Amino acid sequence: MAKVVKFGGSSLADANQFRKVADIIRSDKERRYVVPSAPGKRFKDDTKVTDMLYKCYDDVCAGANAVAAFLPIADRYNGIISDLGLTISLDREFEEITDNFTKRAGRDYAASRGEYLNGIILANYLGFNFVDAAKGIFFKADGEFDAELTDATLASILEGYDCAVIPGFYGANPDGTIRTFSRGGSDFTGSVVAKAIGAELYENWTDVPGFAVADPRIVDDPEFIDLITYRELRELSYMGATVLHQDAIFPVRNARIPINIKNTNDPSAKGTMIVHDAPEGKNRHIITGIAGKKNFSAVAIEKDEMNSEIGFLRRILTLMDVEKINFEHIPTGIDTMTLIVDTDDLKKHPNFAERVKEVANPNHIEIEDGLALIAVVGRGMKATKGTATRIFAALSHANINIKMIDQGSSELNIIIGIREEDFDEAIRVIYNMFMLQE
Ligand code: ASP
Repeated sequence: MAKVVKFGGSSLADANQFRKVADIIRSDKERRYVVPSAPGKRFKDDTKVTDMLYKCYDDVCAGANAVAAFLPIADRYNGIISDLGLTISLDREFEEITDNFTKRAGRDYAASRGEYLNGIILANYLGFNFVDAAKGIFFKADGEFDAELTDATLASILEGYDCAVIPGFYGANPDGTIRTFSRGGSDFTGSVVAKAIGAELYENWTDVPGFAVADPRIVDDPEFIDLITYRELRELSYMGATVLHQDAIFPVRNARIPINIKNTNDPSAKGTMIVHDAPEGKNRHIITGIAGKKNFSAVAIEKDEMNSEIGFLRRILTLMDVEKINFEHIPTGIDTMTLIVDTDDLKKHPNFAERVKEVANPNHIEIEDGLALIAVVGRGMKATKGTATRIFAALSHANINIKMIDQGSSELNIIIGIREEDFDEAIRVIYNMFMLQE
């Protein structure tokens, strides 16, 4: 059996963190495949190596000398190497990288070197094999991740190694050039590796205890989630949770491999377990998490006898399709429908209301900006009565007006729309209602 362990940038920011990581890996012999990020921040105002690399490459493209511009980055790696007492030298790699910068190898190539170099150091420190992600992680010509080719190639490469370090964040295009995933993409690499080897568990080690029930910037000292299903997490991550890259769940979710979010600075804590199906039995709380997002607009459309006009909704949705505007929700009434859309998205289509008039001839159309959506998510809702009542009671006591309500038939979440200025308070009162009074 094997576990895949991914360590984020702050877990590998300096030699001291490397030592913690090595202790964690050595304490469980199933932790055999390791995916590192580039060194992150060592202190609050520090710069992540990935950001240093982007800047360095941009400076080189603007005329700076590559070797000189790369020096602070080389220093960070050399510092880690000497503090760990290792004897390797990365000078040859530094030379190749600065040469490639001078030849304009691309921003993705530049950024990927953060993980690449850190992977070499970590493999050396652990005594593991180093497997360059460019040999096993692939993109298609249109830039899309090539899941099939990656899965087959990685599986056959890793079969040959008992233990390996595979750097996160990048892979290769069909022409062999380097492409990165979006920022935070090492989480995705970890998931892809876990899928390829059929891991029993994907551990994602970071610098927080797991997923908080609500954003700690809004709720003081929130509880952390012990167990969450993939479906619940989708409802929450979609609304802006930041602990795990939002694409990272897909490869392992389909393979039914659980993810355990763990804290490198407190390895014995349980962290948050993300599973396909939650075990039967009563949960500690009815709700699992609360998350939300600001910056939505409501487009309210009114038309007499809308309910009996066949094709009305289709005309509006076809227009959204043609204009390429994504909608979040569409609550409807007898003669009304409301499109809840991202305000920035809508702003790109200043004549949207006119277009609605052309295609659907409504009696009235009105746009309201400044809305926020809050998702209250929990698998426990299905078996419990009164969840909505409690949410509404909490908001009404806090004198917060509810602009929209949406509950899907899955009964996994209740989504409410409120004014942006009520956002923080709404999250706090809902948290208090469910977490402090149960
Ligand atoms: N180092 C990359 C970033 O800063 C990728 C990662 O850490 O996952 O976004």
